[in-house]
Amino acid sequence: MKSAWVEHEAKDTVARYVDAGVNPDLAERVYTTRLLGRDPKLVLHGGGNTSVKTHGKDLLGEDTEVLCVKGSGWDMGTIEPAGLPAVRLQALRKLRGRDSLSDEDMVRVQRANLIDPMAPNPSVETLLHAFVPHRFVDHTHATAVLSLIDQPNGEDLAREVYGKRMGIVPYIMPGFALAKKAAEVFETNPEFEGLILAKHGIFTFGADAREAYETMIEMVTLAEQRLRERRKPVFISVQLPQQIAPRAAVAPILRGAVALPDDNAEGAWRRLVMEFRTGDAILNFVNGKDIHRYSQAGVITPDHTIRTKDWPLVVAAPAEGGLDAFRAAARQAAQAFVAKYRAYFERHNARFDGGKTMLDPAPRVILVPGLGLYGLGRSKKDARIAADLAEAAVEGITDAEAIGSFESISEADMFDCEYWSLEQAKLGTAKAPPLAGQVAVVTGAAGAIGFATAKAFTAAGAEVALLDLDGETAKEKAKQIGGGAVGVRCDVTDAQSVRDAFAVVVEAFGGVDIVVSNAGAAWQGRIGEVDEATLRESFELNFYGHQRVAQAATKIMLAQGTGGCLLFNVSKQAVNPGPNFGPYGLPKAATLFLVRQYALDYGAEGIRANAVNADRIRSGLLTDDFITERSKARGVSEKDYMSGNLLGREVTAQDVAQAFLAQALALKTTADVTTVDGGNIAAALR
Ligand SMILES: [Zn+2]
Repeated sequence: MKSAWVEHEAKDTVARYVDAGVNPDLAERVYTTRLLGRDPKLVLHGGGNTSVKTHGKDLLGEDTEVLCVKGSGWDMGTIEPAGLPAVRLQALRKLRGRDSLSDEDMVRVQRANLIDPMAPNPSVETLLHAFVPHRFVDHTHATAVLSLIDQPNGEDLAREVYGKRMGIVPYIMPGFALAKKAAEVFETNPEFEGLILAKHGIFTFGADAREAYETMIEMVTLAEQRLRERRKPVFISVQLPQQIAPRAAVAPILRGAVALPDDNAEGAWRRLVMEFRTGDAILNFVNGKDIHRYSQAGVITPDHTIRTKDWPLVVAAPAEGGLDAFRAAARQAAQAFVAKYRAYFERHNARFDGGKTMLDPAPRVILVPGLGLYGLGRSKKDARIAADLAEAAVEGITDAEAIGSFESISEADMFDCEYWSLEQAKLGTAKAPPLAGQVAVVTGAAGAIGFATAKAFTAAGAEVALLDLDGETAKEKAKQIGGGAVGVRCDVTDAQSVRDAFAVVVEAFGGVDIVVSNAGAAWQGRIGEVDEATLRESFELNFYGHQRVAQAATKIMLAQGTGGCLLFNVSKQAVNPGPNFGPYGLPKAATLFLVRQYALDYGAEGIRANAVNADRIRSGLLTDDFITERSKARGVSEKDYMSGNLLGREVTAQDVAQAFLAQALALKTTADVTTVDGGNIAAALR
């Protein structure tokens, strides 16, 4: 591992912060914290922290000795000075004299001694930083170090590699007891340059930021060197099927297999979003004959439990042409996983007199021989985090097995971390939005109604795919929405284009739960005179387009087996024809019946089909120029033209989006048409 320290960058960063009034020690601390945080082989998603002991003024202007330590909620790779809140150091040091200190009291004392009462909570490893004397302290869960120490003889290996340079602290869960033990180990030899925390990670010390950082790099490099020596070949591969099924077919099966019925509402599911990863190292790992041993042995470092659970779900290799058997086996494996998790919870909850509440028992990582791995989460962001940690586990366990045999902390220790209130606090307590874990596809998403709908579904917690004939604009709009949103080019008049677009959606999220089939365009002509080509063209888009999209989505929904929701944008024209709008209204009328046919044919599988019947919305169909022209022709103002309905209110794309959202949430409603037109008796459904 190479040092990423660049002298002039360090100087510039420090100078810039000092000019802005930041304490120079803290400025240095920010620079190397970022260096550590940017390297995934050192730090991943909250797995590490740093500190500096310095002086600062408290709120009364008095000089105080403080520990600036990484605060929760900050990413080390992009940290700012505010991400290292200052805590009164003397108060922290005094705690050393206690025999014990509960986690809750530890947090309370740390918060009570913050210089800024509004600052984030200091790291759960704050006391360890406080109890060693060095000014700069760095802590990471470097993968190479974990491979070295996650072994039955991990402490011997650490001694072999580091000699007397590093102290070795036996495994204790983070908190007061670990901090105290680490300080005791350090005091046996104050020459130690750092500490190895068994089955957990590494601390390094320095008089300045550079020394602590360079020591970290050196110690990790020594571990890497040892991992290259005396390796045995891993892993022996199983015999795989001749042809592996495509991911587009496999992912929905897995996604459905791990979804759990939601006890709060009949027909509701707790779904997860997926993130796929593969590569030589991952395939070598998932294809191994002994996968059920080494992949089930536990986490490589304790704090992974809250993101990946203690073990991944392992399924069979999906053979091309054998998907029915794969589906049955995957469901069985997922059920066994849930049963194993429940038993694990019950076993260890008993130690807490049943005081813990079980988290959802669904897996967060799936290993698929022949394909790769999936990270899972209630959002795309969480799925990516799980996948990142799973990739680190693949690397860590592979190297551990190559030089010995991988060993994690005990199951009880994993439970204590997974159900530790301070770890759970990292995940936040916000109530999940109503569509969390669901994937929504919107066609015609670059237009006014489509984009408003994509935004409304995102706000409700869904991951969205924006499909449009104009792929560039769809991508642009997806970027505006941010998060996991994807933009995909899709021509709904072309069956292959529709299949391709849905394959992209499945690749991005693992499946589909909601489809808003919205793409459409208007053709005009007096019906007795219109040429057949025009009529057929309109049917291609305004009827067959909906059918192709619904068909592609239904196939995925059936593979998932967790129901689904098909929503269609029909039009007032479907029930109340306007003069010369036959070429538009006729296919829309057919689409209205398409909704009913889907509701009828797939109700038993939990797939609902509903439609929104909107009228006079500013959009690509009803442009500003057209509105000007029509209102002039009728001799009314544009405003009166747009609000020419019973309520006298202009209907907007957002109103239509909210109607689609309401239909998506109404789990007992199917074959429904919701009218969003401000009121028009002639177009009212009967
Ligand atoms: Zn740690």
